[in-house]
Amino acid sequence: MIELIDLYKDPQRSIESRIENLLSLMTLEEKAGQLHQAPAPIEAVSELCALARAGRLGSLVLATSAHAGSEEQQVASLDQYNAVQRAAVEESRLGIPLIYGRDVIHGHRTLFPIPLGQAAAWDADLVRDASAAAAKEASAAGIHWTFAPMIDIARDPRWGRVAEGFGEDPFLVSVMAEACVRGFQGDDPAGSESVLACLKHFLGYGAAEGGRDYNSTEITEHTLLNVYLPSFEAGIKAGAGSVMAAFHEIGGTPCSGNRQLLTGLLRDRLGFDGLIVSDWNSVGELQEHGVAESPRDAAAIALDAGVDLDMCSGAYLTHLPELVEAGIVPIEQVDNAVRRVLRTKFLCGLFERPYTERSIPSQEFAEATMALARRLAARSAVLLKNDGSVLPLSKHRSRIAVIGPLAHARRELMGTWSIDAVDSDGVTVVEGIRAVAPDIEILTGAGPSDLDLSLASRADVVIVVVGEHHNRSGENASLADLHLPPGQTELVRAAKELGKPTIAVVCAGRPIILTDIERSADAILYAWHPGVQGGLGIADILFGGASPAGRLPITFPRHEGQIPLYYNHKSTGRPNEGKYLETLTTPLYPFGYGLTYTTFAYSSLSLDAAAISANDTITASISIKNTGSQAGEEVVQLYIRDLVARVTRPIKELKGFQRVSLEAGETKTVTFTIGPDQLSYAGPDGRRIVEPGEFQVWIGGDSTAAQSAVFRVR
Ligand code: BGC
Repeated sequence: MIELIDLYKDPQRSIESRIENLLSLMTLEEKAGQLHQAPAPIEAVSELCALARAGRLGSLVLATSAHAGSEEQQVASLDQYNAVQRAAVEESRLGIPLIYGRDVIHGHRTLFPIPLGQAAAWDADLVRDASAAAAKEASAAGIHWTFAPMIDIARDPRWGRVAEGFGEDPFLVSVMAEACVRGFQGDDPAGSESVLACLKHFLGYGAAEGGRDYNSTEITEHTLLNVYLPSFEAGIKAGAGSVMAAFHEIGGTPCSGNRQLLTGLLRDRLGFDGLIVSDWNSVGELQEHGVAESPRDAAAIALDAGVDLDMCSGAYLTHLPELVEAGIVPIEQVDNAVRRVLRTKFLCGLFERPYTERSIPSQEFAEATMALARRLAARSAVLLKNDGSVLPLSKHRSRIAVIGPLAHARRELMGTWSIDAVDSDGVTVVEGIRAVAPDIEILTGAGPSDLDLSLASRADVVIVVVGEHHNRSGENASLADLHLPPGQTELVRAAKELGKPTIAVVCAGRPIILTDIERSADAILYAWHPGVQGGLGIADILFGGASPAGRLPITFPRHEGQIPLYYNHKSTGRPNEGKYLETLTTPLYPFGYGLTYTTFAYSSLSLDAAAISANDTITASISIKNTGSQAGEEVVQLYIRDLVARVTRPIKELKGFQRVSLEAGETKTVTFTIGPDQLSYAGPDGRRIVEPGEFQVWIGGDSTAAQSAVFRVR
């Protein structure tokens, strides 16, 4: 027996043989224990140790409640995590280590911009580096696994969780998914500075009806495969070790009990062989959905569907042994789920390195990470308006009023899921401006008040910092009214009515309806929730230390009534009709949009062939000139439309982008190679097809790009 036990402890043996050896030694109760993930409130530490000692615990989610992203939480300390781990490793019968997961969504202690902001940077390398830095900080804090990236396509800004993802576009979200997975997991999730990634939420969570969180979805199979699935395919291709099943129901079956989705699509079709974890209590919630009569029933349904690890409902722990004994759940299903949990633990190196040693990040790392946060904050900010080139501001202008409810905000700038943030790390916009432009006189009060306007009246330029509190977006934080909170739009208008050049800086977790602000402000800088270095990143853009390089990853409507409004919609049979009687059907700002401090002109879009065969490639080139008087960076975007197909196809879809820096007056040629990856779509059986016929290509600075050409696939 001892020899057998030694087998799985031997790192020289293959992971698969270690798993089989371990499985052969486990009792049914221990197997159910491996499939149980418990929350980790500080007061439960001794209870968790007892569970671990008894082999009745497989994992901890380092959070205390179902809304961890928007609550102050007292979770256990690193010493306590190590103590629970010790109970599992040294005091339980088999010594299987626990795996600890936590939501490291856009940084651990060093908060980067919210994911929606990161997407606006259109810069995969920066996003990968930010994820790698987050992994390093998180792993030093005892976290093995992050429940990120959140790669749900979101077409509805009422949904608060739009903040946590990368926007509306399948291609851009796929690029971000890959970047995050590579950053979090590094070359190997077992690395001491890596964390395991988790793609979530499978599948179609962003389609919640009315933007109300957790709500039902109606998604056709065609849309599911072509809009909601590609980002998961990209994340899996990049090597993500886990996927989270979503809360909501789709077509009558909740995702966490949906065999067609989890086993049929995810495992069988996509070939995903990593770990599938439920969402918080989503196994238990099968009862609320009305597809399970009891938690016992829910456990059987979820396991059969393909959920390996039960986050927080306790249904697996309590009921799987009796369900197996009653012949309701086949033991093979339990064994397969346990195999995946054990495999994940082996792959994360937990059998060899179960404990986390306390370590303080080097000064060098801390400084580099802060610099990265500043860079990403600046790069994610989108310049929406800049009349009369009011921006950039001169560092020598004498008096600038910095007013508005978020001028001195610190924590608010960090956004949702800032659970490991330290408030004092944050830099306010006023502090950022002071650091970047020390010679100017800043007129500022302590917050929104009548004083604000009297300060504005004495200034040469007025910066009004408006936006949302960090908990006004995120989980369970949907809005029906997407305007700024009361008083903010009025403040911008009042500043402008003083006759002063007025700059609105908007810090928010979602697209806000800016129709009124657009009418009054001279310039609008959309900074999202920019993270811990937000004030500096914003100041860098305002004073020209960094040039605006962000582009919208999501459409900005003019009116809530237009929602859902997204650029890659289908054509109707009457494209020029179907209008609103009282407003436009176009967005206020389209997907891909963003100004710079210079201007660009596109010309001479050309293709190197008139026709290609379905598995060939074609090259599209365009000439781009910086027609302004200073250097700038453009995000050159490629859009494609399949003009005639067996099914209706979107009027255009992003299929590539490149960042190009150009000196004033400089011209460059940008080329894109277009082949089956860009031309295909998922047909009725899920397989990708390229159909013969004409395709239209656009290249330009946003989704309204005008330069286009047509070619044929034979
Ligand atoms: C959220 C997940 C999160 C989990 C753990 C749930 O409420 O939907 O995204 O990972 O909690 O905190």
